[in-house]
Amino acid sequence: MPSEIETLIKVLKLERDNNYNDRAVIGGIKNYSEKWVDKAHQEAKNPKQHILIDELFDLMQSYHTLENTEDRHERIKYMMDRVTQRIPPPPEYQARLSKYERLKPAPAAKPERSARKGGQSTSKPATDGKRAQPKQQASAKQQESANNHPDFAEDYDIPVMPSRLDIPQEPKLARPPRKPRRKVNEQEASDILRGLNAKVETIKGIGPRNAQGLHNLGLHTINDLLFNLPRRYDDYTKLLYISKLQPNMVVTVIGTVKVSQIRPTKTGRKDLYVELDDGSGALAITFFGGHYYSRSLRQGKQIIVRGKTNVFRNRLQMANPEWEELDQEDLKRPAIVPIYSLTEGMTSRRLRQIIKTAVDYWADQIPDYIPESVLDRTELADLGWALKNLHFPEGSDHLYHAQQRYIFDQLLLLQLAILGNRRSWQAVPSHPLTVSDDWLETFMNQSFPYPLTNAQQRAIADIRADIAKGIPMNRLIQGDVGSGKTAVAVIAMGMVVKSGKQAALMAPTGILAEQHYRGISQTFSHYPDEQKPTVALLTGSLTDKERETIYAGLADGTIDIVIGTHAIIQAGVEFNDLGLAIIDEQHRFGVGQRGTLRSKGHHPHLLIMTATPIPRTMALTLYADLDLSVIDEMPPGRTPIDTRIVLPSERERIYSFIKKQLDEGRQAFIVHPLVTASDKIDAASAVEAYDVLSKVFFRYRVCLLHGQMKPTEKDQIMEAFANHEYDVMVTTSVAEVGVDVPNASVIVIEGANRFGLAQLHQFRGRVGRGQHASYCLLIPDDATYETASQLESIQSWEAVVDNSLPESVRRLRAMEMTTDGFKLAEIDWQLRGAGDLVGTRQSGRNRLQVAEMMSPELVALAQREALTIYEEDKHLAQSEHRLLKERVAMLYNEDSDFS
Ligand code: ADP
Ligand code: MG
Repeated sequence: MPSEIETLIKVLKLERDNNYNDRAVIGGIKNYSEKWVDKAHQEAKNPKQHILIDELFDLMQSYHTLENTEDRHERIKYMMDRVTQRIPPPPEYQARLSKYERLKPAPAAKPERSARKGGQSTSKPATDGKRAQPKQQASAKQQESANNHPDFAEDYDIPVMPSRLDIPQEPKLARPPRKPRRKVNEQEASDILRGLNAKVETIKGIGPRNAQGLHNLGLHTINDLLFNLPRRYDDYTKLLYISKLQPNMVVTVIGTVKVSQIRPTKTGRKDLYVELDDGSGALAITFFGGHYYSRSLRQGKQIIVRGKTNVFRNRLQMANPEWEELDQEDLKRPAIVPIYSLTEGMTSRRLRQIIKTAVDYWADQIPDYIPESVLDRTELADLGWALKNLHFPEGSDHLYHAQQRYIFDQLLLLQLAILGNRRSWQAVPSHPLTVSDDWLETFMNQSFPYPLTNAQQRAIADIRADIAKGIPMNRLIQGDVGSGKTAVAVIAMGMVVKSGKQAALMAPTGILAEQHYRGISQTFSHYPDEQKPTVALLTGSLTDKERETIYAGLADGTIDIVIGTHAIIQAGVEFNDLGLAIIDEQHRFGVGQRGTLRSKGHHPHLLIMTATPIPRTMALTLYADLDLSVIDEMPPGRTPIDTRIVLPSERERIYSFIKKQLDEGRQAFIVHPLVTASDKIDAASAVEAYDVLSKVFFRYRVCLLHGQMKPTEKDQIMEAFANHEYDVMVTTSVAEVGVDVPNASVIVIEGANRFGLAQLHQFRGRVGRGQHASYCLLIPDDATYETASQLESIQSWEAVVDNSLPESVRRLRAMEMTTDGFKLAEIDWQLRGAGDLVGTRQSGRNRLQVAEMMSPELVALAQREALTIYEEDKHLAQSEHRLLKERVAMLYNEDSDFS
């Protein structure tokens, strides 16, 4: 086959695999066709090939004008069919035959043909056992189509080694199908709901043992079964041969265990080393500390593994992949196979059967609680259809639509719950508090040595208006690290105390509470005695006696302002008249704690401050019950922090740079990453790092701060560092929040690739808080010899979100490119989806299970629909909202605090 045609086939396949986004070749297909067409004509051996090339060229030229995936899919498919000559040329091109016939004589014989055909089967990897089955079927199919179309084999061969297993292509689906909804009367609906709540034992064929297995998984009712979504899917249509794997791919492969050895390490850990063979090649797999798998991962076992490939000592390998034994059944039909969480006594095969039985019956019965009008507007799938395809997807398009519907539901229900909650929360009156303009003016001028920024003043004005209203304030202040949220909190507390009420400020750590306490006491120290509020600090590290004194002061009202940690919401803390509760760094607290703090007073006003910049649409959804003030302006005079990625090999240079800064009187943080899930081990590694760094910086004063220290100890060290009793602080992620050390000018983050963008940005906020030029140095510990050039190649935001380079490289590059927390939040969202953002709000059972699939568009859509429903029917009292109301109520019961 002419090599240009061969290349084109590859391009077309790639385009198909990329979901028809016209990114298979740089510059798009149209561009590519222009370079391709001449070369292809040069290679053409006969008139038929010439007209084929003409036609393909024309088709490629207009490819980018096709707007939807379905059309593009059709186009590519047609082109493939034409290349393989499964279909004849259309008449208008056929007519050109004569033109080319005159140009070139047809070639004589094709000597290589039969050799090629023979090679087709032998060059495929040898396979063993059942594995060969689907492939044989598939190649038989190819054979057949080749026989039916003699033309196809004559002029061109299909590529000898396909890049994917020869599984027939899955069906495509641009839009989910919708069925007209069956009308159900009240009686019928309640019967169905009763059926859904029936015990799993009622399903035919489930004995006591299976039932126990299901109970162990927390699945008690049919409803539980239906909504027990797969943990993941193994897409058998996208399986790859081991010989086709590249480093840094997340892939699923099937193979036979050829080697299985327990390998003890020097530290006494017992790893399991496995070699997996699929006939095309072997893959080395290490399960760190995974010796206990050796019983199941024996030689000859066929398994399916999923994980990320990497290169170790020049060999492609996988570390700690997910794996399970291969179920031969799954290979019989090409499919996307659901993988559920399992426990003792329940095999994946059995669970799949049970769920299939339940889904097959119930998918057509289950009443859809989302009104039809909503589905019409949003073009989302029916509930039953979605359930079917969430469990047993017909294709990846089907799965996509099913997941969209599922996530939409979660978002919509959450929104409605939040809106409902806001309604009831605001139905209770609170005491309107007002202060005069003069008083406020003087108070602001007296409190700070600097004028407040416009953004700070706007936030204060918002708060002032809220507390004057007579319904409880519920406001979120969002401002980047260092934007001056504390000053806003101080003014808010001042206004409330002036009105004769108490205020509480809750911070996530003792260090931060203490710092707020010092700063705020200082602010009020200029006040004439009779106006000076009494400020107390309440943390876990007080003695019993100190605590009792504060409790008493809060209860009798002699303490005006209390600043503290969780200790504030402990049982036993009673306020005389709490007027305002403030939560700082809200992302560190669970929703429950917010509710508890609020319940301490008689409907106090609530102010929440966060430095986690959340994209606006997202904030509006997750905090639909909160009013939002954004501090989008930094205090003047800050120099942007100079951020650089430094490869580990350049560490020495960094050290001398730090020493220079220290010699100029500055201070430095050196952060070590969370390497393990255990705080203990992290502390140990921080201690180790401290030992090393104490030697490196032996002329300077080095201190250590980690999460395993006692709170008092941490506070002491932090305070000492803030007072410049130390020059260098070696620490772990505990340094993430809030601490204010304006003299610190350098932060080094080791293992920077291990942190998320939000966290990196928080760390960076530890420096650049004074007038000194500041630096943030990121040292990735996964750097390879390619890293430098990869970084170099990322010059635009498009390149940052483009998937072709490792994510950690792109993340770090984003840190270099901007210090704007909102921009980073947006990028973070594009890189990872909104999972983590949601995690900050959600707790316990009602987590959004597929949150990583959430897109800003879907969030906005759910928000729009929720508002539409809410405006129309606040109490969800209309009949078409009856089921919806029930679902929302269920959500309340699962986690009653939505605010
Ligand atoms: P964050 O929003 O991260 O909580 P802080 O309230 O800790 O920020 O403020 C960061 C630093 O900026 C503090 O040192 C504070 O004194 C200073 N600051 C706050 N507001 C202003 C302002 N309007 N002008 C100058 N400096 C300010
Ligand atoms: Mg702060």
